[in-house]
Amino acid sequence: QWGALRQELLKTVGQNNFKTWIDPIEFSELDSGVATFHVPTNFVGNYVSQNYGDLILHQMTRSGHDVQRISFEVAANTASRPTLPSTGAPVAVANSTPTETRELAMTGAPLDGRFTFESFVVGKPNELANAAARRVAEGGPVTFNPLFLYGGVGLGKTHLMHAIAWELQSRRPDLNVLYLSAEQFMYRFVQALRDRKMMDFKELFRSVDVLMVDDVQFIAGKDSTQEEFFHTFNALVDQNKQIIISADRAPGEIKDLEDRIKSRLQCGLVVDLHPTDYELRLGILQTKVDSYRAQYPDLQLADGVLEFLAHRISTNVRVLEGALTRLFAFASLVGREITMELTQDCLSDVLRASERKISVEEIQRKVAEHYNIRLSDMIGPKRVRTFARPRQIAMYLCKQLTSRSLPEIGRRFGGRDHTTVMHGVKRVEELRTADAQISDDLELLRRALEA
Ligand code: ADP
Ligand code: MG
Repeated sequence: QWGALRQELLKTVGQNNFKTWIDPIEFSELDSGVATFHVPTNFVGNYVSQNYGDLILHQMTRSGHDVQRISFEVAANTASRPTLPSTGAPVAVANSTPTETRELAMTGAPLDGRFTFESFVVGKPNELANAAARRVAEGGPVTFNPLFLYGGVGLGKTHLMHAIAWELQSRRPDLNVLYLSAEQFMYRFVQALRDRKMMDFKELFRSVDVLMVDDVQFIAGKDSTQEEFFHTFNALVDQNKQIIISADRAPGEIKDLEDRIKSRLQCGLVVDLHPTDYELRLGILQTKVDSYRAQYPDLQLADGVLEFLAHRISTNVRVLEGALTRLFAFASLVGREITMELTQDCLSDVLRASERKISVEEIQRKVAEHYNIRLSDMIGPKRVRTFARPRQIAMYLCKQLTSRSLPEIGRRFGGRDHTTVMHGVKRVEELRTADAQISDDLELLRRALEA
């Protein structure tokens, strides 16, 4: 029976989730409407109950079993032979009555099996965040509370949080770890209000040992959610329970977040994930390629491709990974070596989108610096050669390196006419071929701006 049910579950939850979560659990018995399953650890029990309890219940009922609820027990023997009498204590219970099914939904979000410490590549930009996350993941006495991780999109905040959860699972299976996004927190809060289940809500959130809330900036401006979050936060800190928070910016910089919450968020350890540098990006790509080897054993990768990608795609790691995945899939499909040419063909849109945008201000600043004049003189009305020449060079570079039109450029140069800009650009074009010094300057400036 369980065998047939497993097949059904496999179809519904997919290979990966099945292997991680359903495979380790074992049906034990069905007695007076209670189906009991053996699980290897509390963590698996809680997780399966929270995420798949409903589903298992539903499928058992559908296949004709009289099941009211399911319960999970930690097996004394992790091989969990179903014939063994159960010795462990129940860790989580799912009921089939509609109200209680809703309680089930009030739990954590799924964890991504790929987001572990092992797969997290550490470099200068993220070493502090990584070290702090690892410390918290040891599950020892609480030293800083909360741990606040912040940084831009795709720099690994969610990855690190999941890694903490996985690590805690293996080191401290006795702990009740709850991970969810701030959006889910709000959603559950609103649902609890609507269903008059605030007591259950409070109980759930106050009974965890480790609470992780991802993307906390989401609750900014949402007053009652903030309020509830604040109380939850305080209750847990008072009990000395670990809290881990992430956001896209520092606590003090989150707009529309109450000051008392900001200051609370700052009391622990605040660490940021810096934008990736070239070395880190290359490291991530190399790790990723290694993990692809099994999947695409015959693929050839030409020298310089990874370096090229690490250099060109600097926006965020998600984009970088996506590009590599696409490249491998494409190359294996057409059965060709991954060369520079194939890379540029296959990723032309990504490469174009991630081209660094150089601003007019940047150009003006760099050129003024190079010729040792003031920015105000570069933009100002004075027409002496000392200012006019650098101004023309800056205009020329604006035309070359940005997508601004001549009138737009003119406007940024103290409201000059587009014909003035056109004249300046022409003049520099002439000088570039005639004057070696100017030609060198241009090359130098261009390289500095594109770096
Ligand atoms: P964030 O939550 O900060 O927006 P994520 O944690 O979702 O970013 O990371 C985006 C993607 O980049 C994920 O697939 C993640 O595994 C990957 N990633 C980010 N940083 C690293 C890193 N240092 N090593 C390996 N993978 C990383
Ligand atoms: Mg995230």
